[in-house]
Amino acid sequence: MQAFPFTAIVGQDEMKQALLIASVDPGVGGVMVFGDRGTGKSTAVRALAALLPKIRAVVGCPYGCEPSATAGLCDACVRKGPDGLPKSRLTAIPVVDLPLGATEDRVVGALDLERALVDGEKAFEPGLLARANRGFLYIDEVNLLEDHIVDLLLDVAASGENRVEREGLSVQHPARFVLVGSGNPEEGELRPQLLDRFGLSVEVRTPEDLPTRIEVVRRRDRYEQDSEAFCATWKRRDGRLRGRIKRAREALGDVTVPDAALEKAALLCIALGTDGLRGELTLVRAARAVASFDGADAVEDDHLRRVAAPALRHRLRRNPLEEAGSSVRVDRAVAELFGG
Ligand SMILES: [Zn+2]
Repeated sequence: MQAFPFTAIVGQDEMKQALLIASVDPGVGGVMVFGDRGTGKSTAVRALAALLPKIRAVVGCPYGCEPSATAGLCDACVRKGPDGLPKSRLTAIPVVDLPLGATEDRVVGALDLERALVDGEKAFEPGLLARANRGFLYIDEVNLLEDHIVDLLLDVAASGENRVEREGLSVQHPARFVLVGSGNPEEGELRPQLLDRFGLSVEVRTPEDLPTRIEVVRRRDRYEQDSEAFCATWKRRDGRLRGRIKRAREALGDVTVPDAALEKAALLCIALGTDGLRGELTLVRAARAVASFDGADAVEDDHLRRVAAPALRHRLRRNPLEEAGSSVRVDRAVAELFGG
């Protein structure tokens, strides 16, 4: 069955915007999605991956290396060199689900020490991180995962490389992916130190107004009845969005961030009392991706305003005297700084 068309997703604008930002500039960092079950979080990730331009991957390479790349290739592809590589194929961006309770070996890959000692070569069984290379790693209910695994995933996502070490043996391979985590705030919290390492955080809710609910169910039902026909009706809209993402990626390097925008970003973070500079950096970076997506050549107030909540709300210090939720606090500071 084809993936649900991204442009057919009703509402959930904040989540869609965050996923688009991450696909224009994966360096923004992962996306954490908070919300009820059944709000289409995993559908949105799959829909986006299916929409993005296909990638060329070396056939038989467990990491799906890009044949024309000069960096970020696995050892085997580097050894074979550009002329020795086997055929390549066009393939969709991978989306890998990280199952709850997955062992560390399953995630990072397993190094078989015995075989390595006998054969004198590295016996490595690639794990889920290998499959996620160049795509998305989706974790449902991150808050239920052990902290050390989340930590490890965030490290790999940030460095783009997975290194497995066992008793003096080590293997490393490229693992560039966008980490998308989902969490239900009612089922335990994620430690602030982990949360801060996600670039963006968004909130999704079950829509409450009648027309939206009806439209969500209508589209879902049509899709389930006849996915091919449904996807065909959304093909052009998805195609146009694909074109916009492509152009935004190409133009990203040319989008400037004027001093005035840097100053606004800093003022906003000071007003909110965010810890460290990660929030500010993410805010600027996300605003640049949005500007590029809009076809603008410089970051303006409106771009900052649109990404302020997703870039900052998970980085606010708890204030016992402050009853308002973090989204409200960000919105208030934005209104004060940029004018209502
Ligand atoms: Zn390779």
